[in-house]
Amino acid sequence: MKLILLGAPGAGKGTVAKMLTEMDGSVQISTGDILRGAVQAGTELGKQAQAYMNAGDLVPDELIMGIMEKRLQEPDCEKGFLLDGFPRTIPQAEALNVLLDKLGIKLDMAVNIDVPRDVILDRLTTRRTCSNPDCQAIYNVKSNPPKVEGVCDKCGSPVVQREDETEEAISHRLETYNEKTAPLIGFYENEGLCVTVSATNSEDVINAIKERLAA
Ligand code: ADP
Ligand code: ZN
Repeated sequence: MKLILLGAPGAGKGTVAKMLTEMDGSVQISTGDILRGAVQAGTELGKQAQAYMNAGDLVPDELIMGIMEKRLQEPDCEKGFLLDGFPRTIPQAEALNVLLDKLGIKLDMAVNIDVPRDVILDRLTTRRTCSNPDCQAIYNVKSNPPKVEGVCDKCGSPVVQREDETEEAISHRLETYNEKTAPLIGFYENEGLCVTVSATNSEDVINAIKERLAA
């Protein structure tokens, strides 16, 4: 399947994407994971992205398109992909259309995961992430803690609160979402690709996606 996952930070894009990869071998492509990996590895990309990320601002479109142009041409994308956290702006969505045309790829749909704001705020402040850039498993101190406190179940690395998950950065990320990313819902509605799923449970989101894909 070839899907775009839309939704506010904390809507569950990453969790849903990880669950979908287990269905048909499609790969999760998270620009946030790629960027955090680059920051930790200290690459040129990481150095350019870090300040924007810590402040909860978007990384410039050019950097993101450079990442995606390469990533979508890797062989593991042939089975399908789940775009998680990309596109995030109208210019990115337009550039993605050009890129997909060039590569001869057609999207199945853009899933808008719609979760109430109070749930989002609660999730973001209680979310923890595995610090291993190759793992980045997601936990929640209340609803899904690691078996051993502070230690990733999957890889044993420390589980930490992201630097952009302070209250200030979170409220800034939500503002940025409303201003820059929410307009993508209308963009993909115009393309006839947008499906909105209002569900706070990731299983319900998965089931709604499966139904739509089968229809
Ligand atoms: P979340 O969805 O929880 O906000 P992500 O892991 O998707 O978090 O992204 C973390 C940060 O990485 C964003 O706040 C932003 O700075 C940067 N980022 C990720 N994807 C993009 C993108 N497509 N365009 C611009 N910046 C991005
Ligand atoms: Zn881990």
